[in-house]
Amino acid sequence: MEIIVRKGDSLWNYSQMFQVNLQLINDSNPKIDHNNLTVGQKVQIPGFVAKEYQIHRGDSLWSIAQKMNLPLEAMELINPEVKASTLSPGQTIKVPTRINWRLVQNGQKYDYSQLLTDINKLHEIYPFLKISNIGKTVLGKEIPEILIGTGEKRVHYNGSFHANEWITSLAIMTFLNDYLLSLTNHQPIRGLNASPLYQQSTLSIVPMVNPDGVELVLNGPPDKEEWQKRVVEFNKGSTDFTEWKANIRGVDLNDQFPARWELEKARNPNEPGPRDYVGEKPLLEPEAIAMANLTKERDFTRVLAFHTQGEVIYWGFENLEPAESEVIVKEFSRVSGYEPVKTIASYAGYKDWFIQDWQRTGFTIELGRGINPLPLSMFDDIYKKSLGIFLAGLYM
Ligand SMILES: [Zn+2]
Repeated sequence: MEIIVRKGDSLWNYSQMFQVNLQLINDSNPKIDHNNLTVGQKVQIPGFVAKEYQIHRGDSLWSIAQKMNLPLEAMELINPEVKASTLSPGQTIKVPTRINWRLVQNGQKYDYSQLLTDINKLHEIYPFLKISNIGKTVLGKEIPEILIGTGEKRVHYNGSFHANEWITSLAIMTFLNDYLLSLTNHQPIRGLNASPLYQQSTLSIVPMVNPDGVELVLNGPPDKEEWQKRVVEFNKGSTDFTEWKANIRGVDLNDQFPARWELEKARNPNEPGPRDYVGEKPLLEPEAIAMANLTKERDFTRVLAFHTQGEVIYWGFENLEPAESEVIVKEFSRVSGYEPVKTIASYAGYKDWFIQDWQRTGFTIELGRGINPLPLSMFDDIYKKSLGIFLAGLYM
C-alpha cells in the first residue's frame, strides 16, 4: 500500500500506526532516506492494501478505523482529501486493509505463468522482497529468484529441477507466503517467530529451475513445430509427457553438475530423453549454468533442493559434507518424519556439486510418496510435513 508523506511524519510513525516492523518498512523503501522524509514523497507500507469502501449512513472515519483495528490517523493518512466532517453516504473512501490471507494460488496445477503471477502479487504487497532473474531457459523464459531477509546466513531453496515435480514449486511458494504472513501479522508459524529468521538469514528462492520442462508436463509441447517434433522424438514417439523430468532439450538438469559426472554418464542413457540423460558435458544447459552462477555469486551457506518423491532426505556426497550436515538432517527428520539417507549411488546432482565444491551443508529433499507427478490432492499432506523443513532450513 502506498501512502503520501505529510509534514512531521516518520517511518517510525507508520510502523506504530500500522503495527508493521520498522525494518520491513525500511526494506520496502530502499530508495528513500529513512531518517529524513520529504512532504509529498511516496512510501510503501508492506502487508496492506488500500481497499475502496462506500460510506453508509452512520459511518465515520473513526468507526471504520475501529472496525479495521487501526488508529483514526491511519484513515486520515490514506484519505488526505477527505474531510471527516463532510463524510456523506455513497461517498467512496480508501480503507487500509491488513492482508492476513494467502495470495499464492492453491489447488490447481502450478505452471510457469501462475508462478509469475504469484511472484508479482507477492512483490506488490511485500515490496521488501527482492526479485530478479538468474538467467534464461533454452526457450528464453526468465528464471526468477526471490530474496527475503537481511541476515548473514545465506540459505537457498529451489524447486522443479525436474519437470514433473512441479508440486515442489507450489510448496516453496506457499511457504514463502506463510513466512510473509507471519512476518507482517506478528503471528508465529509453528510456534516460531518469523522476525528473527528474517534478521538472521537471507533466503534465496528459485522456485522453478526448469520452467520449459514444467510447461511441457502441464501444458504440452511448445508452439514451434520444430520443438514439437523434437520433444516427441525424445519421448520415444509418445505425446504423453507426464513422466518428463528433463529440460526441453531432453537433458536431466540434476545430472548436469561437475561432481563425478562421468560416473553418472556411465550408468545413464546416452541420448536425450524424458529423464536421466546427463548431456554432452557438465554445465552445458542454460538452466544448470544459471544455477551454478547464482550459487557462486551468492556464496550460499546452505542449499536445499526440493524434489519428489519418497519422503527421504539425502544429505551426503563422497564424505565431503561437514559434520554439521548430520545434525541438521536429524532436525529435518524430526520435524517432518522424513528419513535421512546419507548417499545413494548417484552423482552430478546440484547438491552433490555444492557439497563437493564448498564442503558446506547441502540437501536433496524428496517430498511425498507415490508416483510422479504427485497429484494435488496430496499437497496439504506434503506441505504439512515439509513446513518444518522449510523453517528448520532457516533456524538451524
Ligand atoms: Zn527429482
